[in-house]
Amino acid sequence: MNKSILIIGACGQIGTELTLKLREINGANQVIASDIKEGNKELMQSGPFEFINAMDYNSIEKIIEKYAINEVYLMAAMLSATGEKYPAKAWELNMNSLFNVLNIAKEGKIKKLFWPSSMAVFGPSTPKENTPQETIMEPTTVYGISKQTGERWCEYYFNKYGVDVRSIRYPGVISWRTNPGGGTTDYAVEIYHEALLKGEYTSFLKKETKLPMMYMDDALEATIKIMDAAPETIKIRSSYNLAAISFTPEEIAAEIKKEIPEFKISYNPDFRQTIADSWPKSIDDSRARKDWNWNHTFDLKKTSEIMLENLRLKYNLP
Ligand code: NAD
Repeated sequence: MNKSILIIGACGQIGTELTLKLREINGANQVIASDIKEGNKELMQSGPFEFINAMDYNSIEKIIEKYAINEVYLMAAMLSATGEKYPAKAWELNMNSLFNVLNIAKEGKIKKLFWPSSMAVFGPSTPKENTPQETIMEPTTVYGISKQTGERWCEYYFNKYGVDVRSIRYPGVISWRTNPGGGTTDYAVEIYHEALLKGEYTSFLKKETKLPMMYMDDALEATIKIMDAAPETIKIRSSYNLAAISFTPEEIAAEIKKEIPEFKISYNPDFRQTIADSWPKSIDDSRARKDWNWNHTFDLKKTSEIMLENLRLKYNLP
């Protein structure tokens, strides 16, 4: 069966690159991008786009019928740092959008659903090193609470209604094509831009704050892999732990200094420090590796080289 895909929240950091990748694989007209705002030029010119508010069931349903969609990727959400500023709105968006697509799948209108969770499902009482798949989860951010609740509902809809929903807990995602949208790991992208443009960066996290991260191409690879896996290999229907690399602001700065020796970093932690302190330092993703052959490719060195090389080109720097 031909894939006909709808991406909701396609104009964000991950959605933009996911749309481009899925269009490359499946053909541009098979992948419908949607959002409440227009995306960048590359995204808008690469294939069909529709305005959809993820909180509006009817507008999602209408587009699914219009294009005979069989797979949905729900990428719309309010992220951790912004969510702490607007807790009620974050809860409303993150939960209502998920219920809409789960119910559409339950009605049999689509065959498969991807919904990303996050390492934010973990909290201060979770073991911080090599955080297991199944462990104590007491998230303290509204974002983390919404993701944990979402995971429970995904599993419920799978068990109760047979909804084929697949999910991974992304760590912080690093990319050069698109900017991050208000998360606690945004520093690991901002730092590359400022290193090139200003030669210095003030980190909003302390120098020793270690967090799990991943280069965008690995995140896309995992997303596509879990969606392509045979249904019986998906043993976890809440959400899979996913990991690649872990590093601190001090370590990423040292990597940047190898290419830009005069680069300077300083530290001025803000409210995001408390969020980061509640999250794991490293994650055990052996279940994803075993069940659907997940493997990461990009380490910190490779990630840094790619980020600096591409941002140099983007900013027209020598
Ligand atoms: P982002 O903030 O960059 O993009 C979200 C997109 O959703 C934006 O384009 C926004 O306009 C759109 N949106 C907001 N409200 C909407 C609505 N009502 N209807 C339709 N679209 C709406 O987020 P992202 O970084 O691309 O994250 C995508 C998903 O991955 C989210 O579920 C996020 O929680 C998860 N995630 C991301 C990271 C990361 O590091 N980027 C880490 C863990 C989990």
